[in-house]
Amino acid sequence: MRATLLSTAAPIAEHPLRMVDLPDPRPGPDEMVLEVTACAVCRTDLQIVVGDVPARLLPIVPGHQVVGRVVELGSEMAGWAVGDRAGVGWLGHTCGACRFCMTGRENLCPTARFTGWDIHGGFATRIGVKAAFAIRLPERADTDLAPLLCGGIIGFRSLRVSGIAPGGRLGLFGFGASASLAIQVALHWGCEVFVVTRSRDEQRRALALGAAWTGTYDDPVPTPLDAAITFAPVGEVVVSALRSLERGGVVAVNAIHLDRVPQFDYDLLWLERQIRSVANYTRDDAAELLRLAGEIPIVTTVDLYPLEEANLALARLEKGELGGTAVLVPT
Ligand SMILES: [Zn+2]
Ligand SMILES: [Zn+2]
Repeated sequence: MRATLLSTAAPIAEHPLRMVDLPDPRPGPDEMVLEVTACAVCRTDLQIVVGDVPARLLPIVPGHQVVGRVVELGSEMAGWAVGDRAGVGWLGHTCGACRFCMTGRENLCPTARFTGWDIHGGFATRIGVKAAFAIRLPERADTDLAPLLCGGIIGFRSLRVSGIAPGGRLGLFGFGASASLAIQVALHWGCEVFVVTRSRDEQRRALALGAAWTGTYDDPVPTPLDAAITFAPVGEVVVSALRSLERGGVVAVNAIHLDRVPQFDYDLLWLERQIRSVANYTRDDAAELLRLAGEIPIVTTVDLYPLEEANLALARLEKGELGGTAVLVPT
């Protein structure tokens, strides 16, 4: 198979991903192999490639928002057939036996393995996946579905962690790919959504999607928020969000990597306000988000790149030059 391989993390200007030929993956008994048709690019891919999130396996094929077709099944496989469409997300494996896995919190499994971090990902023409972690997909174009498989699912988990109830007042701080998917679910639930971002383009996009109000970090949100989700990978934003909260409200921090959170007065947290991080997702989160994606339906905006141009797609993501989620397509 053809794959883009990361051998050493480096600044994106040095083109750390190299196009190589690798042996095709062979399925273990409970695994299957997909021919990749689309793989969306996530900020976490960028962070692994440049070293902000240390790689756990090198060399590694990044990419964890993968859509493909089953081409080979392991010997003990049931429930999937050759030719089926399937998705592969960040959650590649959990133990199934620890206290977290046994209580519906497999996202916290200490021995979980992640696609494109511990296991070769989808910046390739083929990928192997544990069948139990493959995601069933609604009938949509593969390139439109790919951005849902991390940005969509983690955005959805952030909504759950924030505790936002139907009809509540929700703040979104930062408005990239994941936020533009989460807002569609929140509006579907009848929430009033306030979007805070420096970028005028992102403000316009938020209003077009149905935000009640947009502003910058200097503008006070006009009404106290029942819940807020921070998407910007900046600690100050967590404090901004906290400052906008109603008593009893929750800030959900959607970031695998964040610089430090600045010191703040306890008054901001007082009255049972909470700050919670959002880590990974469960298969239930994935199934529910994909169901909603078909029902709402969730609209995605994509910029297509040939697989060979993975470095360019990552560079544009880093510079904030993408009009939508970058999706790599094997040619
Ligand atoms: Zn476990
Ligand atoms: Zn991701």
